[in-house]
Amino acid sequence: MLRVTEIFLSIQGESTHAGRPCTFVRLTGCPMRCVWCDSEYTFTGGEHFSIDDIMAQVNAFGCRLVEVTGGEPLAQKKAFKLIERLCDEGFEVLIETGGYVSTAGLDPRAKVILDIKCPGSGEEPRNDWTNLERLRSQKDEVKFVIAVEGDWTYAKKVIKEHDLETRTKAILISPAWGQVDLQEMANWIAGSGLNVRMQLQLHKYIWGPDVKGV
Ligand code: SF4
Repeated sequence: MLRVTEIFLSIQGESTHAGRPCTFVRLTGCPMRCVWCDSEYTFTGGEHFSIDDIMAQVNAFGCRLVEVTGGEPLAQKKAFKLIERLCDEGFEVLIETGGYVSTAGLDPRAKVILDIKCPGSGEEPRNDWTNLERLRSQKDEVKFVIAVEGDWTYAKKVIKEHDLETRTKAILISPAWGQVDLQEMANWIAGSGLNVRMQLQLHKYIWGPDVKGV
């Protein structure tokens, strides 16, 4: 069984897949506590679902793109089985993971969107750096959430040190909601000389920052 907060159909709001129809399977629980976390409602509660139950709901939406997210989806061991099953049934699968749990053993057909936690999150010491060694340049993306200018400085350093421009499909630079001046951030990125992508969370602009299940 897996503990699930919500399963819903929406559009993908982030990553290079932004704008595409997508079914989201949001699993409950996270071992981290990022100070700017926008999904604290996933920390507790949820309902127990079997993998068959989840597959029935996902299939009912009829969308071929599925994101498994959280919370921290990989914190539940059974999530690895769910991801395998989704891949077996031919879904295009995205995994949005916070970077603390190891991605070793993840079905290689799934596409990983890996957070690298910056100092402003309060959780930077918990990054599992071995996850960067498993990134695949054709399909995996990394995401830095920027809350203060020091986070951007940190992100540039990590990008260079780990050669992320060549080792990932995309490097996503995402402002923590309401905490960064977007024009200022755009200027940082434009002048950086780096092959990175500024991303805004599309769903928050469409439905508002606090609406769940979208
Ligand atoms: S890893 Fe994600 S879900 Fe967990 S506290 Fe950080 S932002 Fe929230």
